[in-house]
Amino acid sequence: LRASYAPYRSEAGEAEGMVLLLQDITEHEKLEKMRKEFVANVSHELKTPLTTIKSYTETMLEGSIDDPAMEQRFLKVINDEADRMTRLVRELLQLSNLDYQQMKWEPQPVNLRALMEKVLRNLDQPLQQKQHQVTYDPPEQPLITFGDQDAIEQVILNLFSNAIKYTPDGGNLHLYLEREQAAISLTIQDNGIGIPSQDLPRVFERFYRVDKARSREMGGTGLGLSIARQIVEAHGGSIHLYSREGKGTRVVMRLPLYSGEETSEKEAVAQP
Ligand code: ADP
Repeated sequence: LRASYAPYRSEAGEAEGMVLLLQDITEHEKLEKMRKEFVANVSHELKTPLTTIKSYTETMLEGSIDDPAMEQRFLKVINDEADRMTRLVRELLQLSNLDYQQMKWEPQPVNLRALMEKVLRNLDQPLQQKQHQVTYDPPEQPLITFGDQDAIEQVILNLFSNAIKYTPDGGNLHLYLEREQAAISLTIQDNGIGIPSQDLPRVFERFYRVDKARSREMGGTGLGLSIARQIVEAHGGSIHLYSREGKGTRVVMRLPLYSGEETSEKEAVAQP
């Protein structure tokens, strides 16, 4: 708590009292600490792939590799690391846009049943590759929410990709899309590696990963869940994650059910 004070004077200039100002600076300090940690994290995350790229490139430039297969392996590492950096920079820009509410969203009614079908088609290859079994019973109704279709699609992709990534080959994934009174819930359940209970409260933090090496190996940035949560909350929804180490994870996203009243974001914002 910071206190500052000044005398309060009458028109004639006589001191009549005191104005005391008490400011809560703990919140300010907390934000400052978070900002510093974020910058440190970003620098570290960008430096790691750069170090790898640099050392592999230098080795190749020395000309000491005469095995073409080895050369290919080196090039693949360099390429993968460059891809990860690109993804990282793209996600950082997205977070910054979310923070400053500068997303170029086009809110409209979004049919979640159709969007689920699309995501399932897009993830067909990794699903096949890991030989996961997916069970999904689409709802009879289309289930419409209101928001930016691309942003919502990205959230589902992030959550679904995590279930695929963090479940060993031949896993079982269950999807549920259901109406709950005024909301729509989307549940993705896997029987993968799960998350230890002590890490669970932190997985939505930027850059937080249970196993850095494993996430990195899979091309992860540690930003997927934090971006997902921010997008969903901006749409008036919520995300909850339940998990047991070694058993699996269930993530539930809820979005408001569209009742057909909204017209466009511009009009909604213009109202007092
Ligand atoms: P990443 O790019 O590392 O996947 P995310 O923000 O998407 O980053 O997730 C953060 C961390 O939460 C992951 O590194 C992983 O440790 C854990 N996690 C997320 N989803 C799952 C899941 N379905 N099963 C197990 N762990 C998960």
